[in-house]
Amino acid sequence: MSGFFGIVSEQPCITDLFYGTDYHSHLGTKRAGLATFDGPQAHQNIHNIENSHFRPKFMKDLDEMKGRVGIGVISDTEAQPVMVNSHLGRFAIATVSRINNMAELEKDCLDKHQQFTDLSRGATNPTELIALQITQGKDFVEGIENVYNRVKGSCTMLILTPDGIIAARDRYGRTPIVIGRRGNDYAVASESHSYVNLGYETCRFVGPGEVVKITTEHGIEVMRSAEKKLQVCSFLWIYYGYPCTEYEGINAEEVRYNLGRLMGERDTDLNPDFVSPIPDSGIGMALGYSNGRRIPYKRGLLKYTPTWSRSFMPVSQSDRFLVAKMKLIPSRAVLSGKEVVFCDDSIVRGTQLRDNVKMLYDYGAKAVHVRISCPPLVHGCTFLNFSTSKTDRELITRRVIEELEGGTIGGTIPMEKLNAYHNASTQEYARRVEVIRRHVGVDTLRFNTLDDVCEAIGMDKSQICTHCFDGSSYGD
Ligand code: SF4
Repeated sequence: MSGFFGIVSEQPCITDLFYGTDYHSHLGTKRAGLATFDGPQAHQNIHNIENSHFRPKFMKDLDEMKGRVGIGVISDTEAQPVMVNSHLGRFAIATVSRINNMAELEKDCLDKHQQFTDLSRGATNPTELIALQITQGKDFVEGIENVYNRVKGSCTMLILTPDGIIAARDRYGRTPIVIGRRGNDYAVASESHSYVNLGYETCRFVGPGEVVKITTEHGIEVMRSAEKKLQVCSFLWIYYGYPCTEYEGINAEEVRYNLGRLMGERDTDLNPDFVSPIPDSGIGMALGYSNGRRIPYKRGLLKYTPTWSRSFMPVSQSDRFLVAKMKLIPSRAVLSGKEVVFCDDSIVRGTQLRDNVKMLYDYGAKAVHVRISCPPLVHGCTFLNFSTSKTDRELITRRVIEELEGGTIGGTIPMEKLNAYHNASTQEYARRVEVIRRHVGVDTLRFNTLDDVCEAIGMDKSQICTHCFDGSSYGD
């Protein structure tokens, strides 16, 4: 997905920029970059972070990076921030985006005699493409409007100029921007936990489609008003976001806890000995379940955090399985002879969960019940770019529906039939869950519903994107 961070300060900004950017490391695994302006003088560093953490890679660059304004990004895809010198002046840009019509927009730029300079990964850099769409405008607002109108997918961005930062949130607000304040200094970020230890307090969430300029001289100035429609990604609360962060003022850990509590309160037909998370993504839910069902929370599986602290993703599938296995260690003393509820955020392919569950039985669990915090995933995400993004075909839920119906979703399976699978009170829904349960190999399997997700977040369904569960969205 990627995450960004920026500082506008009356003091040299590099220390805050360094730590604030580092706090977005859970959102990207490929490239990271920092850019500052010291008057008109630009400084920029980009490193590969596939085999190393952000901090050791950038520590050596800090002395040379001067200035009171800067942006940083942890990217799951391309090298960023991109530096541009244009009729709009010098600027650096970092994006959290997914562009589904790259070819069309590339052609648009080339037809207008623009050129791409960064082909470092063998293809056009999407952030450079966004920069060129912006420079087609007579000013930044018109340029950003180009992006909002033309990009199919989503795009949220920070633009660093010599005097401040322009923050522009995707027109449906799928990905967030939050602003923190410390006196006359500002931090602007994807995630609010990133500036807490730097002494900033949240002062404002940027709205969908809103564009603001932040300077120490004038504070926060609105350049384009927010749209009414909001489709913020619900999966940020369920999985992507760091637990202590807030989106739209709603804390991710609280939402995960609520999802577990709702599930636990309903699970009255079970008498398990304890509830355990699949670490780390199931921890918040398991804590909520423990209180909702009034049973102990214990850790039957532990993640080896000293060396598996981040989402390292090898390229090959077999290496990925090996990593998934190596980082989790079962505890025989906790599991042996016990009936256990295990909580996890979601089921994608089902293979990893099946391997984890087998380990639990192998280490003595008498019965294993798996509880999933969100509804079954039926549609691949077309709005966010994650290095671990799944295609439709990889989603076990989708494959099961297609097998049961003998057709294809989006093809021969009619919409009414598909809607029946989205409704948790239908036979179709129950049949599908049963097939997945057998595939995963557990005693029972239950998912939270979309209503649970909305209740746990505390927002109306019309305000959150739930496309990967039910195929609903405002389109692109
Ligand atoms: S489709 Fe799913 S992951 Fe993608 S933005 Fe919507 S809720 Fe988030």
